[in-house]
Amino acid sequence: IEESVHREYDSTLRRVRDAVLHLNTENMKQAQKAEMAQYVGVSVIYFVGAVSCIFRNTSTGTLYAFLSSMTAILSTLSAWLQMGLQRSSAQSGMDAIMDILHREIDVPNLPPEQCADIRNAQRTAAAAQTPCIRFDHVCFAYENTEIFRDFSCQLRRGESVALVGASGSGKSTFSKLLLRLYDVQSGSVELYGHNVKDYDLHELRTRFGVVPQNTAIFYGTVWSNVKIARPEATDEEVHRAMAIAHVNDFLGDLEHGCDTVVGNGGRELSGGQRQRIGIARAVLGKPDILVFDEATSALDNLSEQAIQHAMEDLMKEHTVIMIAHRLTTIRNVDRVMVFDHGRIVEDGSYQALAEKENGVFHKMLTLGETT
Ligand code: ADP
Repeated sequence: IEESVHREYDSTLRRVRDAVLHLNTENMKQAQKAEMAQYVGVSVIYFVGAVSCIFRNTSTGTLYAFLSSMTAILSTLSAWLQMGLQRSSAQSGMDAIMDILHREIDVPNLPPEQCADIRNAQRTAAAAQTPCIRFDHVCFAYENTEIFRDFSCQLRRGESVALVGASGSGKSTFSKLLLRLYDVQSGSVELYGHNVKDYDLHELRTRFGVVPQNTAIFYGTVWSNVKIARPEATDEEVHRAMAIAHVNDFLGDLEHGCDTVVGNGGRELSGGQRQRIGIARAVLGKPDILVFDEATSALDNLSEQAIQHAMEDLMKEHTVIMIAHRLTTIRNVDRVMVFDHGRIVEDGSYQALAEKENGVFHKMLTLGETT
């Protein structure tokens, strides 16, 4: 693999080098032609001027004045042409930017007056015991890849659910549809009894705390890296989020605690430490539903345990959707849904599925599979 990546990188670099060389050569040729034309023009004028001085009694003063004005006119003309060239190259850049800006948004937002009130819906759903999340006969495909066909399922409020299954089986797409990163082609995705399309997009997304597989760390202190999730949060709230996410456990190892500068150019953090910062960010946003995309690579033992404890605490108070890649981390969820090619092939408690002889989950556990 390494060799083929090297080869591809080499050939791409060579193509870029050839293109840049070609562009520079063409530019030089054009510039050379323009300069040649200018010199020939000036030479002709000097020649005609000299002849006129010799044979037609033109004074050298007149010739000198004429040549000076010619030079001024030529340099203005050349600046004007240069500006034209710059304008046309800027115009093509501008066209590309405008093309992006005017592109239709895939997930349109309703006008504010038509949006359902998400907090009201949440209260009503809690009182009526309506499912927190409901996928109803959903069909969804990315351009040419069909993921869900007539997919239905429900999640109760407060439930913690692990989504397991082979890579590419549709687990992440499930959460992307919830957050409306994409809209379904048919059927509906509902949150608190309303179609997700009925809510204001921003309001909808603030209900979710997403912990991505790879948390981006920005250059700055640990504190600012957590606070970025909600800049108006109080110090107490930031401290609490860091405590819940077990960020505090590793602050002692950093020379300046939460004031240690991390990120590119600062102190490097391990994958487990980064993910704990990701959890703290998600918690700081005060979400109802946590979507936790587990890291695919193995974490150090301490981080693994700390994250497990953090998630167990969070499961007590939140609805948690855990996109699980390592089956050892999901023992304490209420429910496991096994995905296979966009279908839920098994659904039940960890214990029940683990004990099901010949079951898919049972086999995954026996083989110690990860996704
Ligand atoms: P999982 O989380 O179970 O690994 P995903 O939901 O990420 O699976 O992906 C399901 C399938 O959809 C995969 O085959 C993946 O290549 C494809 N896919 C995911 N995102 C996109 C996208 N933005 N555009 C096109 N295909 C995608």
